Amino acid sequence: MPTSFDRSSSSVLVIDDSRAIRRIIRSTLEQRQLFDAYHEASNGEEGLAAAAAVAPDMILCDLDMPVLDGFGFLRRFRAIEANRSAFVLMLSGSGESRNKVEGFALGADDYIVKPCDPAELCARVSNYLRLKDLQAQLGRQNDELERKNRELAALATTDPLTGLHNRRYFLAEVEREVAGARATASPGSVLMMDIDHFKRINDTCGHAQGDAALVAVADAVRRALRSSDVVARFGGEEFVAWMPRTSAEDGATIAERVRAAVAACRIPGLPWNVSVSIGASSLDLDVNESFDAMLARADVALYAAKQGGRDRVVCRASGGAERTAA
Ligand code: GH3
Ligand code: MG
Ligand code: MG
Repeated sequence: MPTSFDRSSSSVLVIDDSRAIRRIIRSTLEQRQLFDAYHEASNGEEGLAAAAAVAPDMILCDLDMPVLDGFGFLRRFRAIEANRSAFVLMLSGSGESRNKVEGFALGADDYIVKPCDPAELCARVSNYLRLKDLQAQLGRQNDELERKNRELAALATTDPLTGLHNRRYFLAEVEREVAGARATASPGSVLMMDIDHFKRINDTCGHAQGDAALVAVADAVRRALRSSDVVARFGGEEFVAWMPRTSAEDGATIAERVRAAVAACRIPGLPWNVSVSIGASSLDLDVNESFDAMLARADVALYAAKQGGRDRVVCRASGGAERTAA
């Protein structure tokens, strides 16, 4: 008679020093087709070796055995982390309460007194198989939830169009990095980038072409920077980058490299090349300037780059001095 619930293949290990009892248990379980595989051992020591070799889902274990008894088996079996979820049913000729208590204390899931009614044995075993099935189902649901959580976490920090980080991720991550940089007196620079006359692409060639331009510019910016730099889409056609361990001078040089990379970038389907204006600022390690203030300086520099004619880099030092780099 097949079991009434769906289950993956399962195996049982019967540990008993009596060959006759092993045979009875096996034929009882086989009649009900409760397991796909049967394994046997004649004492606790052999049982440990067999359990390690076949990792059974369920173990039916005698108490009184030579070499290593049922309690000794349980103690060593349950000490291994991977064995915690296997069901162990003690089968003993002794119905003494203190033996039952000891068995449960050592990690037995059930304690059955021999001789036991075959129907009752099968009913108990079926019940544990149903529990095992529920455990597996919960495990699968948990894996699926974890996968979805990872997906959601990635979505919550990624800009879907360009694949760059989003503004939320940038602000949280860079605020943390800037605090670390300040603590170790390590330099760092930030770039605010805005595509020039972007609206013209949308107006002339359509929104889809505008999207393609955003993707191409995001790619060009990312490739012009290092993998340790944090690059994000800050808003519509605005990007931002934090460059750790980068002085103001190096920041200006890299900003110019980014500007040139975008200017040289061919955008599929667009008859003209685009350009970006870039505002750059650097962490002032002499004053306790906030991350927001450093970003605001880059924004002021970006505005100056636009005012100055676009397709250029303007750097703004913390004292307020501005320098056009291109
Ligand atoms: P400027 O040189 O002064 O920066 O001019 P601009 O045209 O680039 O700037 P403006 O702010 O006037 O226009 C930006 C446009 O970007 C307006 C907005 O509709 C468009 N935009 C924002 N997000 C997206 C997007 O995800 N896809 C597309 N295709 N367009 C976008
Ligand atoms: Mg723009
Ligand atoms: Mg803009």
